[in-house]
Amino acid sequence: MEREAMEFDVVIVGGGPSGLSAAIRLKQLAAEAGRDLEVCLIEKGSEVGAHILSGAVLEPRSLDELIPDWQERGAPLDTPVTADKFMFLTESGAIRMPTPPQMNNHGNYIISLGNFCRWLGEQAEALGVEIYPGFAAAEVLYDETGAVCGVATGDMGIGKDGEPTDMFMRGMELRARQTIFAEGCRGHLTKTLFDRFDLREGKDPQTFAIGIKELWDIDPEKSKPGTAWHSVGWPLSTDTYGGSFLYHLNGNQVAVGYVVGLDYTNPHLSPFEEFQRFKTHPAVRDVFEGGRRVAYGARALNEGGFQSIPKLTFPGGCLVGCTAGFLNVPKIKGTHTAMKSGMTAAEAIFEALDDMQPGHEPASYADRLQDSWLWKELYKVRNIRPGFAKGLWFGMANAALDTYLFMGRAPWTLHHHADHISLKPAADAPKIDYPKPDGVVSFDRNSSVYLSGTNHEENQPAHLTLKDPAIPVSHNLAIYDAPEQRYCPAGVYEIVRDDDGGNPRLQINAQNCVHCKTCDIKDPSQNIVWVTPEGGGGPNYPNM
Ligand SMILES: Cc1cc2nc3c(=O)[nH]c(=O)nc-3n(C[C@H](O)[C@H](O)[C@H](O)COP(=O)(O)OP(=O)(O)OC[C@H]3O[C@@H](n4cnc5c(N)ncnc54)[C@H](O)[C@@H]3O)c2cc1C
Ligand code: SF4
Repeated sequence: MEREAMEFDVVIVGGGPSGLSAAIRLKQLAAEAGRDLEVCLIEKGSEVGAHILSGAVLEPRSLDELIPDWQERGAPLDTPVTADKFMFLTESGAIRMPTPPQMNNHGNYIISLGNFCRWLGEQAEALGVEIYPGFAAAEVLYDETGAVCGVATGDMGIGKDGEPTDMFMRGMELRARQTIFAEGCRGHLTKTLFDRFDLREGKDPQTFAIGIKELWDIDPEKSKPGTAWHSVGWPLSTDTYGGSFLYHLNGNQVAVGYVVGLDYTNPHLSPFEEFQRFKTHPAVRDVFEGGRRVAYGARALNEGGFQSIPKLTFPGGCLVGCTAGFLNVPKIKGTHTAMKSGMTAAEAIFEALDDMQPGHEPASYADRLQDSWLWKELYKVRNIRPGFAKGLWFGMANAALDTYLFMGRAPWTLHHHADHISLKPAADAPKIDYPKPDGVVSFDRNSSVYLSGTNHEENQPAHLTLKDPAIPVSHNLAIYDAPEQRYCPAGVYEIVRDDDGGNPRLQINAQNCVHCKTCDIKDPSQNIVWVTPEGGGGPNYPNM
């Protein structure tokens, strides 16, 4: 069956802060120039914001540039940061440390990034951007010269067996003069563009972390709106990079989360269990007691920074936001940089539109970005994250030296390794004995996934595909004790056996997947490939 096609000037894949900022900036420029511009944005979540999960403390620099009157327009920035605390935790104690300058949040806001994106979506629609939530871009379209000329949404109503069901609906081609990929961390189509156009050649591998987050309604007496609290140390050992965040929002809510660098080496480690254990620490347990957990989710974030930024453009389009990797790790912030990259891409594309030939490569986007504050900001902190590959103490000393002595201008650049090669064999790593959840502040995976509102059409082809179905048992189980059972925060991967304990095999509970992309990153043999499920499937985060 032929696919229907629609034509636009620009198609944007992904309704996060980067994609929405690109859309808004394009329409602002078109309005200033008094010209028509057809901009379409598609989002795989059931609505804009449904798949957005972040901390989040927002640095409003890009927002000030994009929508200077955001306050009058009712942007949901209701909780200015009033206090920063940075702690080192031991098993039973907490030591207050000086807040690193990058984590000074004066002038920033504690927000729900999902709600902020919903608001950005309204601003974009008011300017005439066509937003289609519930549609996943499943395929990149190329013209006869090999240039990108749009994307196609996935077919709907294909059964598990690969055959069309009664609900079958052919995907749609969205053709464009320029296509902007704003898929967020570990974009699935972006990965195919990396290969096709060699965009990562000569760059460091991207490195990642997994962030797991919960939202709690807490006892009003314990609420301290505006407090941003971070910790390093327990429960992680000092050779694993990671730490917690705990942000007090207005309305007696706290956002609490735990981030673990995916270069961890012990295959017995479970980021989910580390997070649950963290909440039992005496320094924080009291915040949750008497409260109620209302939301749960997880998402990968990039940590490679400056030296891992790929080539950003190719014939027919470009990459913006975390799909390229602009997160500032020492700040734990990627929203302001994602927005800035989206705006800059929009400016480069708009400037070229009049004389644009098919397959135009918007190369001036990269030049403009290199002249912007974003580039300087990321360059300055490029050596901080790689220093932690040698452990917490070396990392802290290196960060202090790099920040205070070299001021980000050290005459060297430290490098990264890919995360999937870091695991030691299970036999060479200590087992970790995680406590059972207490049902008060700590919980199991199933009850957690329930709170993510995750839902997928049951009868559809698996979106977690295996290049070789034998590897999970012959390699991952044999050498690493099947680490996917532990790093997946949604309990998607289970090794099941016959009653006699024999015949181990991997069971994939794909319906639980919260689209964090960790398996696609951490699988030691890169055998798991995450592809988009039917649009609208996945988590339904309320205000993460
Ligand atoms: C736990 C955690 C804490 C964080 N804390 C902070 C913080 O405090 N401050 C801060 O500034 N940053 C923080 N970040 C980083 C910040 O969230 C990201 O930098 C930011 O969201 C990146 O924006 P983006 O638009 O590039 O991608 P995303 O926000 O990931 O948005 C991408 C969108 O594209 C959609 N999409 C992806 N693929 C497709 C497809 N093929 N078809 C259709 N739609 C698609 C997704 O569903 C999603 O809605 C945090 C991140 C995490 C995970
Ligand atoms: S299956 Fe993969 S992408 Fe889905 S929740 Fe688990 S680790 Fe994340």
